[in-house]
Amino acid sequence: MNYQIIKTDRKTLAISVSKEQKIIVRAPKCITKKEVDNIVNNNIDWIKKQLEIMKERSENGVLSRLGEDDIINLKKKAKSVIPDKVRYYSQIMGVNPQGIKITSAKTRWGSCSSKNNLCFSWRLMLLTDDVIDYIVVHELAHIRVKNHQIKFYEEVKKYMPDYKKRESKLKILQKEL
Ligand SMILES: [Zn+2]
Repeated sequence: MNYQIIKTDRKTLAISVSKEQKIIVRAPKCITKKEVDNIVNNNIDWIKKQLEIMKERSENGVLSRLGEDDIINLKKKAKSVIPDKVRYYSQIMGVNPQGIKITSAKTRWGSCSSKNNLCFSWRLMLLTDDVIDYIVVHELAHIRVKNHQIKFYEEVKKYMPDYKKRESKLKILQKEL
């Protein structure tokens, strides 16, 4: 069975199956290929089951059901909804984004460049309003703090005290897409 191995500082080994149905093994640096092979083989039933679940999910997920017209409509919707939200929250937060672009990014919901240009994926339209608002506030907060350290989340929390709840909801929602 083919798998991708990621060597990390962790002490234990962890196997996971990604949405793209790839087997990923996170392993301590000192472990040998043979040892990993053995552990993978010992867990083959579990892995096969996970692969099946992920395959089913990818066939049933909202994204896989979208037709070309749906995508065109979602892009249109994003182009009207997102700039409005950005305007609204940038006023509250007192920040000044340089521009807003709607992208087709698959793995990134949004981004903020060093020059404070914001990008948002049209896929945001597949999420709920409260979560979209969180992503907007998150990117706007990057205008002040470019990293994800404590200061950054303090900034987010100032304008969205329940951001953690929204962040966990985002994690659940994106698994279902
Ligand atoms: Zn961020």
